[in-house]
Amino acid sequence: MVGVTLALLLAREPGLAITLVESISFPPLEPDAPLPYRPSFDARNTALSRRTVSTYRELGLWDDMQLHATSIHEIHVSERGHFGMSRLVADEENVESFGQVIENAWMGLVLLRALRQCSNVTVRDGVTLTGIRVQESHVSAELKKGDESFTLSAPLLVAADGANSPCRELLGVNATTTAYDQVALVTTVATHLPHDHIAYERFTESGPMAVLPLPENRRAVVWTLPAGTEQPLIDCSDDEFLAQLQAAFGKRAGRFVKTAKRFAYPLALTVAQTQTQPRAVILGNAAHTLHPVAGQGFNLCLRDCLALTERLAQRHREGGDIGEFSLLRDYENARIDDQHNVTSFSDRLVRGFSNNTPGLTLLRNVGMVTFDLLPAAKQALARYAMGLSH
Ligand SMILES: Cc1cc2nc3c(=O)[nH]c(=O)nc-3n(C[C@H](O)[C@H](O)[C@H](O)COP(=O)(O)OP(=O)(O)OC[C@H]3O[C@@H](n4cnc5c(N)ncnc54)[C@H](O)[C@@H]3O)c2cc1C
Repeated sequence: MVGVTLALLLAREPGLAITLVESISFPPLEPDAPLPYRPSFDARNTALSRRTVSTYRELGLWDDMQLHATSIHEIHVSERGHFGMSRLVADEENVESFGQVIENAWMGLVLLRALRQCSNVTVRDGVTLTGIRVQESHVSAELKKGDESFTLSAPLLVAADGANSPCRELLGVNATTTAYDQVALVTTVATHLPHDHIAYERFTESGPMAVLPLPENRRAVVWTLPAGTEQPLIDCSDDEFLAQLQAAFGKRAGRFVKTAKRFAYPLALTVAQTQTQPRAVILGNAAHTLHPVAGQGFNLCLRDCLALTERLAQRHREGGDIGEFSLLRDYENARIDDQHNVTSFSDRLVRGFSNNTPGLTLLRNVGMVTFDLLPAAKQALARYAMGLSH
């Protein structure tokens, strides 16, 4: 999602030629046919902040994206079995929504079609990267498609190849990884009550849980569990899973009546030791992979994409070298505070709410009640979650 979004942002700059390399094979898309949407109970979803939505609007993609997205009008934060509760309401913050939840599969199709329509973007899918050579005037990527090997050269390589980034390794950049000893169990459910555009962030004994509104009255569940406890919840019958979910979440959202398959993702905080080198930038999850508890990972990456695009476009317009190290360092320096704030906010949220020491439980519940009574603090957090302030 990050690599494609960056390519689309850069493609607006006339004269820049972009090649997107992806190891999986993309589905074929007819240029003028409707996108093949399959309503799914199994889809993974992403909560997009207002800032992210407005970027896709500027790219002319939001009309298509919103066909299968749902707005968030309220955010309820609470701790299961305790009195603390806080509520953020869009109306009270003078916005019509805090953001939108979209199915990744649909968003991917919209992005992909847009990419195929850009005359200055070449898409090379089904291709694996095998080597990188950095030289003074350019960088070369050695690639393989089936039995065919070939090399691409450019003034700049952007590595947006995920948390286990092969590019990062080939560039010789270390990353620190701190395992949370948790997994995110992800699924889609339905309740007997309408979702009313409410997003729940619920801190349970097993770990934080997000229940987000989706189109057609479905809800996305991201349930953090101690690593090793997820398999029985994946293998059990749907009825058994629904009963366990209800017991963990409580009744705030109504009765859970339907569930899809469950998938588990191991969770770790991964941070690259540097994000820039001569002729290379490390971006997206390859640069920083966060706990999904606050739904901020992709939104943060998108702000990185905007900052990088601005610098590359300006340098290109001036006729300069877009792979020059000082330009790339300037990008990294400009982004480091926001990245650090979001990373440590998500990390502290997980650790603070995964600790059941009685004094701490009381403290955070008092904290939530106090927070609920402080309009200025709520406004600050709401602006932060919407991606409008750092
Ligand atoms: C359960 C869960 C829920 C989340 N929810 C939210 C949310 O609500 N809001 C939010 O903002 N963020 C959320 N996130 C975070 C978000 O998913 C990530 O920030 C985002 O996926 C990062 O995208 P990326 O493109 O950097 O990496 P990836 O999605 O990992 O993409 C990397 C790409 O590189 C390709 N690739 C890998 N190796 C090679 C190679 N050698 N050659 C060529 N291509 C290669 C891969 O095939 C892949 O397509 C969530 C994450 C999880 C786990």
